[in-house]
Amino acid sequence: MGLSIMRRIKFCAGHRLHQHGGKCEFFHGHNYVADFYVTGESVDSVGRVIDFADLKARFKGWLDEHWDHGFLLFEGDDNGVNAIKQVEPSKYFVLPYNPTAENMARYLLDHVAPQLLVDTEVIATKVVVWETEDSFAEASLDVAGETRNAEALATDVAASAKDASW
Ligand SMILES: [Zn+2]
Repeated sequence: MGLSIMRRIKFCAGHRLHQHGGKCEFFHGHNYVADFYVTGESVDSVGRVIDFADLKARFKGWLDEHWDHGFLLFEGDDNGVNAIKQVEPSKYFVLPYNPTAENMARYLLDHVAPQLLVDTEVIATKVVVWETEDSFAEASLDVAGETRNAEALATDVAASAKDASW
């Protein structure tokens, strides 16, 4: 049996979608909401799979450092990356793909969450990124069946993170 909890983290970031062809290719920003779902197989003596405050410290800590009030760009967007480098000071984060809500959720699930949870008993099974109040994207582990355990899921995450390192 898996027990899942979710911690919501809010942050602000700028981005643009390379070769979008519409208004999303202009520099602009959003008030994002990221929902991190983590799953464990058991609870501690208090009855928690992990402390909500611990999740907040890990996920908010990473987002504050890397994405909050920063600018997200695709590594193939040379024009955008060169432009943001001209701004002093500037904070930016280059992704291996366009910074859509889908790709941001995928990056958080594949690359960020496994690092942040490595010393815990839980794994991230889903990340939802809300770009507006009306639109979100969801990245989730491909769970073949309820019988799979956390160890197997963690292996999948490691494998998909490796596959995505392009
Ligand atoms: Zn946007």
